[in-house]
Amino acid sequence: MVETTDTVVVGGGQAGVAMSEHLGRAGIDHIVLERGRIAERWRSGRWDSLVANGPAWHDRFPGMEFKEDPESFVPKEKMADYFVDYAAMIKAPIRTGVDVQKVSRLEGKQGFRVETSQGVIEARSVVAATGPFQKPVFPRMIPESTELLQMHSAAYRNPGQLPEGAVLVVGAGSSGAQIAEELLECGRRVYISVGPHDRPPRAYRGRDYCWWLGVLGKWDIAAREPGAEHVTIAVSGAHGGHTVDFRRLAARGMVLLGRIDGFAAGRLTVAPDLCANLATGDANYLSVLDEADDYAHRFGLDLPQEPGAREIVPEAECIRSPILSVDLAEAGITTVIWATGYVPDFSWLSLDAFDASGKPRHQRGVSPEPGLYFLGLPWQSRRGSSFIWGVWHDAKYVADQIMIQRSYSAYHESLSLK
Ligand SMILES: Cc1cc2nc3c(=O)[nH]c(=O)nc-3n(C[C@H](O)[C@H](O)[C@H](O)COP(=O)(O)OP(=O)(O)OC[C@H]3O[C@@H](n4cnc5c(N)ncnc54)[C@H](O)[C@@H]3O)c2cc1C
Repeated sequence: MVETTDTVVVGGGQAGVAMSEHLGRAGIDHIVLERGRIAERWRSGRWDSLVANGPAWHDRFPGMEFKEDPESFVPKEKMADYFVDYAAMIKAPIRTGVDVQKVSRLEGKQGFRVETSQGVIEARSVVAATGPFQKPVFPRMIPESTELLQMHSAAYRNPGQLPEGAVLVVGAGSSGAQIAEELLECGRRVYISVGPHDRPPRAYRGRDYCWWLGVLGKWDIAAREPGAEHVTIAVSGAHGGHTVDFRRLAARGMVLLGRIDGFAAGRLTVAPDLCANLATGDANYLSVLDEADDYAHRFGLDLPQEPGAREIVPEAECIRSPILSVDLAEAGITTVIWATGYVPDFSWLSLDAFDASGKPRHQRGVSPEPGLYFLGLPWQSRRGSSFIWGVWHDAKYVADQIMIQRSYSAYHESLSLK
């Protein structure tokens, strides 16, 4: 006997838990399949010292608060515990330790055959909730050698894991910036390659940037043209939260580089774009301050002025005279950490729902394959889609779409019974 259910949700991270809540509310029979544990990526896919990028009052689902101080930045294990508690609260039917290996269409009828490490399930709908960050992007620019350890940020855990010597971190999003700062703090010589990025202030006039981006409608910006969505954003909740400012990090001894664009004979070549990339970050930072001031003025908010926030730190030598070439051995670099992001991996979905580059084709998570849905994709419907507070709302929309299709099917089924 093959097990059947209405909807199979693949992935038991925050997206799978949110999906389960909305399917449960709608009375839709479903099973969530997770290959590891609930919120596995928060437990084993990230570095030891990671805390949430947003405060506890913000980075959560509407249905439950954290036990921690609402203004604090929750450590990653506590984040995973939160989703475990949430799943228990909503009685989510999650099966852990079940790997989904293949999903294909059933022959001659609606629905899907879901092949798992623990047998086959047939379902009318499938929701792929396997995360916005699946397969690490690891540029093979520098050949492997015994003198140099190379790893993706997904494999970084703590400074003690790295051999003695200087470290090059490639990528200045939240992962790259936070890892580089941790290494600097423990006495390493650190080089960081800084590409174009946004870097909002951690807080301004007494309000966290999550609050400002919320009231300014920035989390809710609709998906832009495909391919133009990605914005590297450098923020940090470490040590109670602070603004990521590469100029300040340089003043503390971190060596800033532009984008790495080649490697030959032990030498990296560096694009002459450091100043331009810092300028984009500064422009983004200042634009948030301007919009916040404007908002506070228009709506008469009595928030303390903060003129010091506009001070720009004097430029360190690596900014005044950008470095365009680095000999790894001369610089004493023994580790390169590629904080270069992720690409999707839906190789387990044997369905026609992808473009030529392997990206899902969808409209707010609804794919062109009837009955197949995506959840938790970057910019699925809005900027907040891949984040904790955004995915919950997308899950609600996807559950609605599943309900709508069920009612069309019910109409058809009631006719065919006559
Ligand atoms: C370093 C880092 C820090 C972040 N910090 C924050 C933050 O502070 N605040 C915030 O809002 N967002 C943050 N994010 C973004 C986002 O919230 C997380 O990436 C979050 O883990 C996404 O949740 P998800 O459920 O969509 O995907 P995931 O957490 O990736 O969950 C997907 C699950 O699917 C499972 N899975 C995958 N394939 C299969 C399969 N074939 N069969 C069965 N199971 C499968 C995986 O084991 C995994 O548990 C951060 C992201 C990163 C990388």
